Amino acid sequence: MAQTPPIAFIDLKAQQDRIRPALDKALKKVLDHGRYIMGPEVGELETQLADFCSVKHAVSCSSGTDALMMVLMAREIGPGDAVICPAFTYTATPEVIALLGATPVFADVDPDSFNIDPASFTSAISSAKQSGLRPRALIAVDLFGQPADYDALQPIAEAEGLFVVADAAQSFGAVTHGRAVGQMGLATATSFFPAKPLGCYGDGGAIFTDDDALADVLRSIRLHGKGAKKYDVARVGINGRLDTLQAAVLIEKLKILSEEIELRNSVADVYSKGLQDVAFTPRVANGLTSVWAQYTLRLKPDQRDAVSDHLKANGVPSQVYYPRPLHLQKAYAHCPVADKGVHVSTELTSEVLSLPMHPYLKRDDQDHIMFSLKEALSG
Ligand SMILES: *Cc1c(COP(=O)(O)O)cnc(C)c1O
Repeated sequence: MAQTPPIAFIDLKAQQDRIRPALDKALKKVLDHGRYIMGPEVGELETQLADFCSVKHAVSCSSGTDALMMVLMAREIGPGDAVICPAFTYTATPEVIALLGATPVFADVDPDSFNIDPASFTSAISSAKQSGLRPRALIAVDLFGQPADYDALQPIAEAEGLFVVADAAQSFGAVTHGRAVGQMGLATATSFFPAKPLGCYGDGGAIFTDDDALADVLRSIRLHGKGAKKYDVARVGINGRLDTLQAAVLIEKLKILSEEIELRNSVADVYSKGLQDVAFTPRVANGLTSVWAQYTLRLKPDQRDAVSDHLKANGVPSQVYYPRPLHLQKAYAHCPVADKGVHVSTELTSEVLSLPMHPYLKRDDQDHIMFSLKEALSG
């Protein structure tokens, strides 16, 4: 009997099989012209990305981490500055703040959206001030694919003179009240790491902004701080370019992104309908869409590990994003937290479990995943 293939947590192969001929052609074109650094595909991709989310500038770069860092560099974030970010996110978010000598100040998240709680943002600003720091910016994270509550966050930031950076590494393609991700804050940073909703075959990222002056500075930072003329160095920059080969891959993947997002939403609907009676299923706020970078359940803390073991025994991969809040990580243990605490972030780390999620998840496999999960929860 033919062995059924194992269920993938994220199936990049199914996607590649679908577009392989177009990818082969696009990659061959780059190999033929040989312009591996800042070749024509890079500019083409940037135009298409900017069109996709109706933003004036898309500046491609080396990774989502560098995208975040470049925005902070452009605004000269440094020692003595506080940048607020959620305690429940990937480590790259606070990392860029600390790398520039500034201090991450952690705010709590909302238990329904997993995104930063606006009230806790306010509380983090006051805790930054109490610690003798200058609050300068907020990095809001669109965790698991759903945009943060920018409508609530932006006015708080403006009243306090902070600028907002959207960490959209997991949410490119989502929409909030008719506005595409890319239009949020002063600038939006995304990642093209292979497992993200729009991923390449290596590292890559992009920054979106409507601010012409900021876009110029970002393009300079990306090229070692290049000035007006060759070998003019206007500022300290980085080697932050996106490879031409990766741009060629992304051009092909962008063509199917909207359709893939619809497929992800169908998968999420099936999970939510099938599981809402047995587990706390993820909520998408009114007027927002998610691109479902992850489909993340909340389970009782004493159930979570047993459930994940049972799934594994039944051939179902699952993941814990994230097992520890950042304020309890060794590297960030000295950083201030919102003065009202970050309890939700801590609780979530013992409750969350992400299930297989990708556009090509078969219904049979999904039924098996849900059956195994229900079995685990009742046993
Ligand atoms: C993946 C990710 C990043 C970093 O992106 P890279 O391209 O891997 O550098 C930053 N923030 C969040 C929330 C992410 O998920």
